[in-house]
Amino acid sequence: MFNIINLVKKSVQELKPYQAENIQCRIKLDAMENPYLLPESLIKKVIEGIERIKINRYPDPAASMLKSIISSQTGISTDSIIIGNGSDELIQMILTVFGDPSPQSLSGEHGDRVFFPVPTFSMYGIIARSLSLVPEGVPLIPPCPPLEKGGQEGGWEIPLDKFLSEMERIKPKVIFISYPNNPTGNCFSKESILKILEKAQGIVVIDEAYYDFSKKTFLSYLKEFKNLIILRTLSKIGMAGLRVGYLMTDKEICKELNKVRLPYNSNSVSQEIAGIILENRVELDTQIASIISERERLMNGLKGIKGIKPFPSETNFILFKIAKNSKEVFDKLLDGGILIRNFGNDIYLKYSLRVTIGTPEENDEFLNAIRRI
Ligand code: PMP
Repeated sequence: MFNIINLVKKSVQELKPYQAENIQCRIKLDAMENPYLLPESLIKKVIEGIERIKINRYPDPAASMLKSIISSQTGISTDSIIIGNGSDELIQMILTVFGDPSPQSLSGEHGDRVFFPVPTFSMYGIIARSLSLVPEGVPLIPPCPPLEKGGQEGGWEIPLDKFLSEMERIKPKVIFISYPNNPTGNCFSKESILKILEKAQGIVVIDEAYYDFSKKTFLSYLKEFKNLIILRTLSKIGMAGLRVGYLMTDKEICKELNKVRLPYNSNSVSQEIAGIILENRVELDTQIASIISERERLMNGLKGIKGIKPFPSETNFILFKIAKNSKEVFDKLLDGGILIRNFGNDIYLKYSLRVTIGTPEENDEFLNAIRRI
């Protein structure tokens, strides 16, 4: 009997789709979105911009206007920038260009290695698999490692010696470092990342999706390391619905990536609106500042609840451990209309949940609800 699954390539048969469910809720604190709508003054400018768009025409394939705005704000030249339909698409582009599915690895599996510390953003592994590459993770040092492993505070840090020796052994084509890291929320040691950059033989992607909240960047190292790609997104600062991400890297890498980029990957509406919003960044910066100050308030609130341990965060979310079944906590919050993310099924994150920073009112409701559970 005809079975479609037999036609699907093996690496895709084994995949599980990214968990992006559309669960109905009153308070949405699961996806690291900016909880604020655009300010009125900006909405007017956006509507005027939309009126100018000719949707009967294809978009600018080079997204020139948007790239020049990003260029003027970052100091990186436009030929060193690529716009993606979300940074997810850029991850896929990078792996399409650099990951070769054919070479045989040490373990006999075919496919270049894609390497990252875990737990981290799951799309690195999912996209690698979908392209018949082999994802490999090195566990981060958890904040409270068991005594037999030294027992000292690890703070979700990269175990540098282990990371470097694995890197030497498996020779990954691409390394991903989420900085700060999703879902742990911290920035890894800068010295460790520099060591990785010095030793890496492949491409190193530093994913600065949460840069606007951490204000820490490796942008100034682009000149020194020709294999470095910096990835950013507009999704976390209020434009998740537009699907706009960008990368900054050496011109030569851009040339290669542009060979596989679909010609009209970024649509005209997103290019126009993102350009207008970025040109009026001050309005966004006020929202970002309020998210950062709410993060500290939420952190203190969580610290004050018995049985909860929040981990330090330089992002717009907080990962926390709870001395209860995390799925039950998740379900009870959802019963009250509050959606967060449960990580209890992740081998590295048992008893853990992640909450995105919301408005002060949403954060209060969340804190009150979790206190009652
Ligand atoms: N990188 C990291 C570290 C993320 O957490 C996310 C979103 N969760 C992305 C990339 C993807 O962002 P987008 O595709 O919306 O640009």
